[in-house]
Amino acid sequence: MEKDYYKILGVPRTAAPEEIKKAYRKLAKGCHPDTHPGDPQAEERFKEISQAYDILGDEKKRKQYDQMKSAFSQGFRPGGFDFGGAGVDLNDLFGGAGPKSRRVNYEDLGGMGGLGDIFSQFMDQGSHFRQARAAPQRGRDISSAVTISFDQAIAGGKVRLTVQRSQVCPECSGTGAAPGTTPEPCPQCGGSGTVTMTQGGFGISRPCPRCYGKGMVITQPCPRCGGRGTAPVAKKVSVKIPAGISPGAKIRLPGQGEPGPGGGPPGDLILRVEVGDDPRFTRKGADLYTRVSVDMVTASLGGKAAVRTLTGEAALKIPPGTQPGTVLRLRRQGAPRTGADRKGDLFVTVDVAIPRKLSARQKELLRQLGDQEIS
Ligand SMILES: [Zn+2]
Ligand SMILES: [Zn+2]
Repeated sequence: MEKDYYKILGVPRTAAPEEIKKAYRKLAKGCHPDTHPGDPQAEERFKEISQAYDILGDEKKRKQYDQMKSAFSQGFRPGGFDFGGAGVDLNDLFGGAGPKSRRVNYEDLGGMGGLGDIFSQFMDQGSHFRQARAAPQRGRDISSAVTISFDQAIAGGKVRLTVQRSQVCPECSGTGAAPGTTPEPCPQCGGSGTVTMTQGGFGISRPCPRCYGKGMVITQPCPRCGGRGTAPVAKKVSVKIPAGISPGAKIRLPGQGEPGPGGGPPGDLILRVEVGDDPRFTRKGADLYTRVSVDMVTASLGGKAAVRTLTGEAALKIPPGTQPGTVLRLRRQGAPRTGADRKGDLFVTVDVAIPRKLSARQKELLRQLGDQEIS
């Protein structure tokens, strides 16, 4: 919004039509091409003044210009300002010259409550902006969470859950008005969607607080949805869990989110998968951790120990002289890696059990052992 037509004509925003006309005439005289032949600066200035007067000299165009200016000065963000319900995103409109940019077709702006012609006046200095987005919008994403068991996370499979989401209210078909009634023009703004307030001697236009700029209000809200136009519904969803899913992983289910306003595509369901604990294993990524207890003879002399795995049992080789706390590895006995053939490993911490009760014979043998020099 680089052009301030009031500034160009040197008049206040509250200037009366006669004042604007007078200012224009005076300025135009000073730089008219007839009196400044061959002066490009004067020509440019004359064009600018004429353009400003074209807008401010016309009561209807001036009102539209004021509304636009007000919208810009309040820093409206995407979705923050609704031109008569058309859902135009200002950042989309003026979002700069990306590769997809093209000059807007002003016919497309026909739904903008008569702002199309002011846009054309306003943006005609080589500005490029993308075409206004049509009224239908993509529905919002829904976030949900599900907790599955440790074994389900390892094996994968289908999980069923119920998600709360909204659907277009079947009673009012989304209008929000009670059946048999229709939304009426807003009494506060007379249906224009904007109200003008006087602040410090300036008239400032802003979206109507009663109808939020829509221009229409619902006098008798739909009893089913309370006027929102949508109704909550419990929806059953079946989700495929990949084998080896990590705790906290998110699964996106396209099209399972909120319905799109104005017939737009639905949003997505984003499901966070929590995984329950397991008494046998702890898990870090695809690797699993467990413990095994061996007697001191096996730890000293070496041998085998039976270790629980995901699929049953495996014989873990205990090397001679294994110290308590030693971590041994069973390759590929971990969890599946999502999207890979290889499995993780199973890490086994060895506990060495010290006997609590010994027979007389065992005590004797240990005493003999204690007399030896051992290390
Ligand atoms: Zn309804
Ligand atoms: Zn209103």
